[in-house]
Amino acid sequence: MPFPRLRWSLLLALVCLLVPGLAPGSDATRKRVKPPPRKLVTLPGGESLRHDAAAAFLRMSVSARAEGIGLWVSSGYRTRWQQRLLYERYRLGLGPRAARPGQSNHQRGLAVDVAVGDEDTPTYRWLAANACLHGFRRTVPSEPWHWEYRPRTTRPPPVDTDCLGQPLPPKEPARANSSS
Ligand SMILES: [Zn+2]
Repeated sequence: MPFPRLRWSLLLALVCLLVPGLAPGSDATRKRVKPPPRKLVTLPGGESLRHDAAAAFLRMSVSARAEGIGLWVSSGYRTRWQQRLLYERYRLGLGPRAARPGQSNHQRGLAVDVAVGDEDTPTYRWLAANACLHGFRRTVPSEPWHWEYRPRTTRPPPVDTDCLGQPLPPKEPARANSSS
């Protein structure tokens, strides 16, 4: 009879709702799994970041482009599976350093790898001088490409200086005093 079977199905669904770990494929069955960020925004090029980090990165990109610098993203948000793959490659000596799954801000959509080359390129120098104005900062000493969106703890520089403490160029050309 279909009716009792339906009741059993409803009962099973109710148990799965009340005990999330019993639901097939549920994340609750695996410890230390954080849910993905609620709002991911895709950047030009296909990588994505959490919505607030993406908005800040896009503003920074516009600012960089105005000075002739292109900010190309090689890696943004990563799933736990993607992070595990990178970590295993690193452990086997087949890839660059990668954090353990669950310990990377790429999984939170807050870290971005920018194709900077090395620390001597115009792109890197631009980021070093300007990223803090947009809430980004470099967090891994050995990785000049890795920047994280940390607006609460990234302090803007003093007025008229860049993120490296260097004086900003004047916005308007200085005029000679002709009042005499
Ligand atoms: Zn990175």
